[in-house]
Amino acid sequence: MTTTTTTAKRVFNFSPGPATLPEVVLRQAAEEMLDWHGSGMSVMEMSHRGKEYIAIQAEAEKLLRELLGVPASYKVLFLQGGAIGQNAIVPMNLLRGHAGIDFVDTGEWSLKSIKEAKKYAQVHIVASSAADGYTHVPARERWQLDPDAAYVHICSNETIGGVQYHFTPDTGQVPLVADMSSDFMSRPVDVKRYGLIYAGAQKNVGPAGVTIVIVREDLVGQALPITPSAFDYKVQAEADSMYNTPPTYAIYIVGLVLRWMQAQGGLAAIEARNREKAALLYKHLDSTSFFFNPVALADRSLMNVPFKLKVPSLDEAFLKGADERGLVQLKGHRSVGGMRASLYNALPLSAVAALVDYMKDFEARHGG
Ligand SMILES: *Cc1c(COP(=O)(O)O)cnc(C)c1O
Repeated sequence: MTTTTTTAKRVFNFSPGPATLPEVVLRQAAEEMLDWHGSGMSVMEMSHRGKEYIAIQAEAEKLLRELLGVPASYKVLFLQGGAIGQNAIVPMNLLRGHAGIDFVDTGEWSLKSIKEAKKYAQVHIVASSAADGYTHVPARERWQLDPDAAYVHICSNETIGGVQYHFTPDTGQVPLVADMSSDFMSRPVDVKRYGLIYAGAQKNVGPAGVTIVIVREDLVGQALPITPSAFDYKVQAEADSMYNTPPTYAIYIVGLVLRWMQAQGGLAAIEARNREKAALLYKHLDSTSFFFNPVALADRSLMNVPFKLKVPSLDEAFLKGADERGLVQLKGHRSVGGMRASLYNALPLSAVAALVDYMKDFEARHGG
């Protein structure tokens, strides 16, 4: 048998998601593709009821609980349907007889959650940075919270706008719910401050196809009668996320990524590296007027850095030159334009250094 991965030519991939994964994880998956640990099967071919797969999923959950410090009073669920699916599934499960949900609106992903929740509940936008072009997180003191709301929903990192919470808002007795899709497992989080955390895996912890939900036990068990059984947290919690067939291969890869994260020193070490990467890019953006990032300093994202050229007509040349250097997926979201560099866990510091070098070169050739 021959392996084909040893000479792979890899680019620096700044994709916002699905995103770059640790090369060692991809190599291990390739090695185990045909015969997982002497089972004679690929993980893709295993029954989810078999002892091999059950061990794989249990290991992924154990690592996740250890790395993030998930208290025993929280359920960890591996579901399908993406974070966008959760925009409906969370209200169905968490309304619990309440009429309304409070939302903080910090950008495109907040708006998607708001729009979907309106199908199931009264929605109150308690604070919004829309009037400022979504360039900051509204200060907690300005949120007009309803003490009777089912929960308060935030998006901890706006993947498109590049705005991130660098504080955990206090919502009193009302549970805090966070869409953490694009900063999940990128830094330590005090899970007990949240009622529920959800995230698609495809930014920081694996491939597309699995959605991770971490939910406080006492919030589970009062889903609306219309809730599909496969999306009823209680049903899935009681079945260890195997009420229906879970996305087995995606969960296996998540397990490998989590093991890699552990080897990196855990979340504090990963956060330190993420800060170093982001600082390198922001420092350069702030050192020149040729490029700029519009986000308030205190709320800048460590994960997604949107930036623009002073002269937008150079965008295409910038992106083409980047591609030629193996710096790919830097095009900004269509709603924002310009560029966006996503700096997820698996992106190495050397990728950011290469990007900054290229930006300097490009400016020298086209700038002032
Ligand atoms: C990527 C992303 C989503 C969408 O996730 P899907 O898996 O496509 O449903 C939702 N919210 C945020 C913050 C994201 O970054």
